[in-house]
Amino acid sequence: MPLRATKRGDQRTPLDRDCDVLVCGASFAGLAVARELAGSGAEVLVVDRYEIGERQTSACGIPTSWLFALGLAGSLQQTFGELVVHTPHITARLNLPWTFSTFDYRTLCSLLSEQGSFSFETAKVEGRRGNIVSTDRGEITAPLIVDALGWRRVLGVGENVQPPEALLSRGLEVHPSGGGEDLEVWIDRSYVPAGYGWSFPAGEELRIGVGSFDPRFHVREPTVRLAHDVDAPPVRFQGNWIPHALRDATEDGIFFVGDSAGHCLPLTAEGIRTALYFGIACGRELRAVLSGEQSREQALARYSQFSASHGRAFAWMLRVQRLIPRVPPRALAFALRAMQRKPFVDWAFGHYLEIAHPRLADEGRHGRSRRLAAHPDVAHRESPVTGAVGNP
Ligand SMILES: Cc1cc2nc3c(=O)[nH]c(=O)nc-3n(C[C@H](O)[C@H](O)[C@H](O)COP(=O)(O)OP(=O)(O)OC[C@H]3O[C@@H](n4cnc5c(N)ncnc54)[C@H](O)[C@@H]3O)c2cc1C
Repeated sequence: MPLRATKRGDQRTPLDRDCDVLVCGASFAGLAVARELAGSGAEVLVVDRYEIGERQTSACGIPTSWLFALGLAGSLQQTFGELVVHTPHITARLNLPWTFSTFDYRTLCSLLSEQGSFSFETAKVEGRRGNIVSTDRGEITAPLIVDALGWRRVLGVGENVQPPEALLSRGLEVHPSGGGEDLEVWIDRSYVPAGYGWSFPAGEELRIGVGSFDPRFHVREPTVRLAHDVDAPPVRFQGNWIPHALRDATEDGIFFVGDSAGHCLPLTAEGIRTALYFGIACGRELRAVLSGEQSREQALARYSQFSASHGRAFAWMLRVQRLIPRVPPRALAFALRAMQRKPFVDWAFGHYLEIAHPRLADEGRHGRSRRLAAHPDVAHRESPVTGAVGNP
């Protein structure tokens, strides 16, 4: 069992209070929301059941440009210009148009927190009545409430949708000590009928795992097998459910961000940059409420519409997610061989990055910052989707 720094028992003093904005969840989505509220003068309270950065929730891989756009490059561990894809019949090396990096979760959370100004409490969120959120330490009241609690969508209306009925994938990984040069994925039915395996080197450790888009398929055995196959011991497990369908980003006056709104990309289960991206968008709408520029209802409508405007891209990726397992392995190898061509890779990965592009962070509320412009991966080039340079 990992050691937790979170206070327990008698150390947990009662917590009954109100605030201007209550952000539930202090991982990627919640901290991105809080960052946008810095300097607003509002009383922002962030709660999580664990201390910030205490419990890593993923393999921590992200397009490098996102780390630079948010001033989080200090958390960077390793950078990759290629994606190595193993199938039973071919190993393809895709030369990416932008790089991907692994990062240290605790450092990233700490850097992101420093950019916000909020108070923080460890508390387990249990439910909600109107604008009163109940926790295991008491009740918190706020006119603006954000659910960034992950796939459970704790503050939603009615019963939570649970797996396997919910559109959720399952992911599990191990973190053995070791190193590597390649960012690798396995599309191989011998590991998982619908999904993929991965190995992400991150400095002194490897993050090796298997994700299944079918929630009924158990991933422990194939995760252990994949670790053995790459000569790594299957130690230090971490796993979770991963939503793969967009849900309403607002409901009953609550803002949902990240996995609680199904913001994880269905085809790849990449949910960190989208949690940051939608967190920034949500935070900006809340900030406009706090400054009196708009009402809470307007913010709810605008944020909901912004999230829903990505529906086509999410639906398209869900279709491809369901298609790939039906492609016979030899046809997949043939397709992959053709897809290795540089113009195709540039086109496909350009569109893919565009779905949640770091320029949203970079531009800020009052014009561009220079962080991203200084990063060679992205700079300020034209969007291949819209032809525009600017906010999506
Ligand atoms: C094995 C695995 C590997 C992954 N690898 C990657 C990857 O490399 N790259 C990528 O982009 N995505 C990856 N993902 C997906 C990614 O982890 C999620 O999409 C992302 O973490 C979503 O961020 P979030 O802030 O919405 O939610 P989370 O990161 O899940 O954070 C939710 C927060 O809420 C807190 N919380 C939950 N319930 C309560 C409660 N009741 N009370 C108080 N606090 C609570 C949690 O402690 C946590 O801090 C991976 C997922 C898994 C399972």
